[in-house]
Amino acid sequence: MKVKIKSWNSVAIWKWDVPNEEVCGICRVAFDGCCSTCKTPGDDCPLIWGECSHVFHMHCLLRWLATEGSRGQCPMDRKAWVTAK
Ligand SMILES: [Zn+2]
Ligand SMILES: [Zn+2]
Ligand SMILES: [Zn+2]
Repeated sequence: MKVKIKSWNSVAIWKWDVPNEEVCGICRVAFDGCCSTCKTPGDDCPLIWGECSHVFHMHCLLRWLATEGSRGQCPMDRKAWVTAK
């Protein structure tokens, strides 16, 4: 008896539309969502760019910079955080 394998159409298609860079490095939430301190999606949760080219939710970055361990540095590369204009 021959078993017909019909698995071709069921191969999982991986979506890599969202690379790692598309999530906030602090809270790990995608940039099209809002940060963990903003409860309701759709709340105004702006992004902030640094001159080191890293992007975070503004709320996450401000919270990070307020912690003692941050020393005013980018949490990703530990360079002094300078907000890009
Ligand atoms: Zn965040
Ligand atoms: Zn937020
Ligand atoms: Zn950085």
